Amino acid sequence: MIPGPVENSPEVLMELGKPPISHMDPQFAEIFGEALRNLRKVFQTTGQPFVVAGSGTLAMEMSLVNVIEKGERVLIISNGVFGDRFVDICARYGYEYDLLRATLGDCVSLDEISEKMDERDYKAIMVTHVDTSTGVRVDVEAMGKLIKKSNALFIVDDVCGTGGEMMKMDEWNVDVVFTGSQKGLGIPPGLAITAFSERALEAWEKRKTPVPSYYCDIGLWKPVMEAYENGEAKYFATPATNMICALGVSLKILLREGIEERVRRHRIVGEAFREAVRAMNLNILPKNDEIAANTLTVISLPNGIEDSMLRAEVRKRGVVLAGGLGELAGKTTRIGHIGLVDGNDVFATIGALEGALQTLGHEFEVGKALEVVSKKLLEL
Ligand code: PMP
Repeated sequence: MIPGPVENSPEVLMELGKPPISHMDPQFAEIFGEALRNLRKVFQTTGQPFVVAGSGTLAMEMSLVNVIEKGERVLIISNGVFGDRFVDICARYGYEYDLLRATLGDCVSLDEISEKMDERDYKAIMVTHVDTSTGVRVDVEAMGKLIKKSNALFIVDDVCGTGGEMMKMDEWNVDVVFTGSQKGLGIPPGLAITAFSERALEAWEKRKTPVPSYYCDIGLWKPVMEAYENGEAKYFATPATNMICALGVSLKILLREGIEERVRRHRIVGEAFREAVRAMNLNILPKNDEIAANTLTVISLPNGIEDSMLRAEVRKRGVVLAGGLGELAGKTTRIGHIGLVDGNDVFATIGALEGALQTLGHEFEVGKALEVVSKKLLEL
């Protein structure tokens, strides 16, 4: 129950166990092509998806370096550790940046963003849909509406959103979306996935300087992605064939469930966890439920309960949780519930947490969280 890598379905694991297929094989071209078309459905875009070997951080870098040039100014909206990672990448590539950073557990308001946009023109504005360190989710739709009033490109980190939270890239005016393979897409870590809108592709075309990273250059990858979508293999750098075949399987599973239904399941599971946390006399870190993610729950621990102690007790009961990140290390515990998570996982996790909290001497009404959850899960 960590926010990635998550459990994989048996179908995905079977696919991964097959002998590697040639990346030039027509059968692989068909599989990759279908995966790219299905990614369009997941991101709800007519733009261009790219799948390359790497982790979410590579996808992040790829999203920035293709559309921003050295010396150009961007606005970074940070609601946690992963928002701050934009700062590191921008500094490394010599971008000028303004930073709006929320206090931990809160998110930057639209008014603050609007004020900054009035002061300056930005080449791009970037935000993390769900910051996995704080469990804070932003309203991408509202932000997209605001950003549309300017010429800035809107770049969204959807690593902890894709496959769990809604993403309507075109309708919401998002120009670049990126994710990794190990969370809501339900396969192991190893694929960096991005999608670029027409406007973002144009920004690449109009560049005055070459993309400073060879591997990240979408100009080298675009003909490859287009060829695979046309059912033809084309080489630039060897794709992670087994991972892409597994992605093909997991995307079919995702679309079989349906995006609306999947988002609804995550919402109910998210609500169940939040209600359970409160029933155990604990609090979530996000300031209110409106900005709380449905893909993970970040518990703000009271004095006397340390994250590593709590997780060790929970682990003895067969459930693995994640620790706090950055400044929140030691003070928060994170429950990931993205991907295949169902009612049984919720019961098992809450049962283990109730047991662990009793052992640690935390005061709460034993059994109440399980009762609350069993009612909530009737909605599934
Ligand atoms: N952004 C977010 C929101 C994340 O949660 C993560 C990983 N937890 C990343 C970026 C970086 O991805 P990776 O660890 O796969 O490089």
